Amino acid sequence: TQSLAALDPEVAQRIDAELARQQRGLEMIASENHTAQAVMQAQGSVLTNKYAEGYPGRRYYGGCEEVDVIETLAIERIKELFGANFANVQPHSGAQANASVYHALVRPGDTVLGLNLAHGGHLTHGMKINFSGRLFNIVPYGVNEETNVVDMDEVERLAIEHQPKMIVAGWSAYPRQLDFQRFREIADKVGAYLFVDMAHFAGLVAAGLHPSPVPYAHVVTSTTHKTLAGPRGGIILSNDAEIAKKLNSAVFPGQQGGPLEHVIAGKAVAFKIAASEEFKERQQRTLAGAKILAERLTQDDVAAKGISVLTGGTDVHLVLVDLRNSELDGQQAEDLLAQVEITVNRNAVPFDPRPPMTTSGLRIGTPALATRGFSEAAFAEVAEIIAQTLIAGADGNTSVLPELKDRVLKLAEAHPLYPDLAKVSE
Ligand code: PLP
Repeated sequence: TQSLAALDPEVAQRIDAELARQQRGLEMIASENHTAQAVMQAQGSVLTNKYAEGYPGRRYYGGCEEVDVIETLAIERIKELFGANFANVQPHSGAQANASVYHALVRPGDTVLGLNLAHGGHLTHGMKINFSGRLFNIVPYGVNEETNVVDMDEVERLAIEHQPKMIVAGWSAYPRQLDFQRFREIADKVGAYLFVDMAHFAGLVAAGLHPSPVPYAHVVTSTTHKTLAGPRGGIILSNDAEIAKKLNSAVFPGQQGGPLEHVIAGKAVAFKIAASEEFKERQQRTLAGAKILAERLTQDDVAAKGISVLTGGTDVHLVLVDLRNSELDGQQAEDLLAQVEITVNRNAVPFDPRPPMTTSGLRIGTPALATRGFSEAAFAEVAEIIAQTLIAGADGNTSVLPELKDRVLKLAEAHPLYPDLAKVSE
């Protein structure tokens, strides 16, 4: 019955310090969000105590009547949200969801096509030292050097040449939409499964603001904590009954033991929120904010410093800043923005001449700020601050940074985050 504050003040204080950090600055890491307090409440519940190997109604443990109801709610809500016949909500993370798809559909040594990590793909789409790259014969496809857009003719050519068992479509750092119909046509041509990983843009799909991969793919996975704004975790969807059976046994017992029912409860809550009008409106502001940012970062004063935006704009919730022609590298740009309390991550851009720890890119996302209530006017102010910070960095004129930081702190204060969340160290 001891409180966290009494039992472990070291941990409690750091949790409060992290809350203060999130409240003080602006979170613009494209894969992050601020989940609802209700989601955190569900996650911090007694459900964490429960073993529930198996699936609702078919468990290997007693006492699962309550978690069965909760997991079924999560399953039914996510099926409804994306128009899928089957959902598995047990993957502990996006990477676990993806591992389960490989487990279900391909065998070690099989050929798989995936987007090159250096061109915006994810580790689980075939990176050399990830399980995907170690166990499978990965043939990477990339973006066109001129347009920086995925070259579908190249995907088709590689598919015909290498006859993959599975084609992975999806990305972690890419500012445009993929052509799922064309991917499926190519997959059908060579007899491959099409697996779409919509982790980044799932929230946009849920809001009807991005084409859905569900009608085209054999399997779709997502994380639940990015644009979807839920707890950290993964999900798998399919409309194929045979594949669905394989996916269930690939997750459990294939890849995982006991599901995290406290996280699944958080997922259920998040999926309920994702079906609301408020969520849709939030996703609209997410997209509008990214467009405003892309427009500001393509103005002449920024271009004069050799800074541009990959593909010239965005269709999604993020902008990739291209620093290949700038004195400023990705690490320096990330550090400059940190000085004004804006958190972003440096990111390699395609054909990046700089090493992966430095990079020539920045990935800047708008989901967390949209959740925080940012309007288009507020996003315009953020875009101006980012532009001025990068220009100042390129000029080596750091004297303007304190004033830019003040503007950030004002914006943060005007958009309170978790205003009634209780501190845990007191
Ligand atoms: N898939 C994509 C496209 C991602 O961007 C990510 C995370 O960044 C993942 C999967 C993995 O998710 P997790 O970090 O939950 O394992």
